[in-house]
Amino acid sequence: MTTNKYKTLFTLITLIVILCPASSAKISPVAELHQTGLYGRIHAWNNKIRTPHRVKVVVPQNAPIIISDYHSKIGANGLGRGGKHRGVDIFAATGTPIIAAANGRVIRAKVDKCWGPTILVSHGLDKNNRPFYALYGHVRNIMVKVGQKVNRGQQIAEMGEDIFTSCGAGLHHLHFQISYNPRKIPLLGWGWANFVMDGTSAPNPHEYWENGKGKITCFEADRKYSPSGLTYPVPCKNLPNQQGSSTTRFAQHDLQQNRFQKKMLSSLEKALTFENKSPVKKKSVIELPITLRANQGSTNHKPLKKNTFSSLEELWGEDLM
Ligand SMILES: [Zn+2]
Repeated sequence: MTTNKYKTLFTLITLIVILCPASSAKISPVAELHQTGLYGRIHAWNNKIRTPHRVKVVVPQNAPIIISDYHSKIGANGLGRGGKHRGVDIFAATGTPIIAAANGRVIRAKVDKCWGPTILVSHGLDKNNRPFYALYGHVRNIMVKVGQKVNRGQQIAEMGEDIFTSCGAGLHHLHFQISYNPRKIPLLGWGWANFVMDGTSAPNPHEYWENGKGKITCFEADRKYSPSGLTYPVPCKNLPNQQGSSTTRFAQHDLQQNRFQKKMLSSLEKALTFENKSPVKKKSVIELPITLRANQGSTNHKPLKKNTFSSLEELWGEDLM
């Protein structure tokens, strides 16, 4: 498919999204998500506790929401992932402070070519006396230097802008990921692989909150904390536009992505059904907009040679966001 055809297809889809009547879809603002006991998009594989992992998560009413949870196979943009999410994606307005989740020391702070500005902090020892680390990805305005000590609650960056690489989801968020194994020498690669060795087996951040497993703990300046308990890496008060534009922005984005996703899935399912029913025919080729290119999880960030997909896994690609 030529670039012009991509542009035409993408414009067409954008038009469909814009022209659909907004009144027919339900928008869930942050307050409603909280009221109904949800904490972001529903990614429930475990129906009892409504999470894609084994920990029941409780988010304080005023905390910024998680839009893609640990081990979710739905990305921050509402589209699917090929693999399980290695961290949590927290959504708040661009410019919201990103704060250290515990005392620590900055190990790496750089602009990753796919993830954007990213910080790796050593947070000392966990509850089992094991050295552990946290990644703060897709931020902007990094305010710390490598080697610098940081205190819990200290601002280290700001919530970033929308990033339109395949790692950024096109909707700004903080990717917060825990690691036991930092990479000593950075690769010439990208994403978490450039910062940690154990990204594929990253621990569940919900195991580490100061208030207990699954109990997201907002940072309070006048409280005493255990060194190994984590506090939420964004503040829960004095947030810029939390109930205003950023909420609307999230809801609008969610709405668009849901429509977009439904449309894409429906055409993909049709094509796959056709393929299954007609095994003797030439394999169907499904052509998609360039923004949905799959990634193969290698350390070289390159688009696929062929922009064709024969399965959902291929379409959704690796876990990058
Ligand atoms: Zn993420």
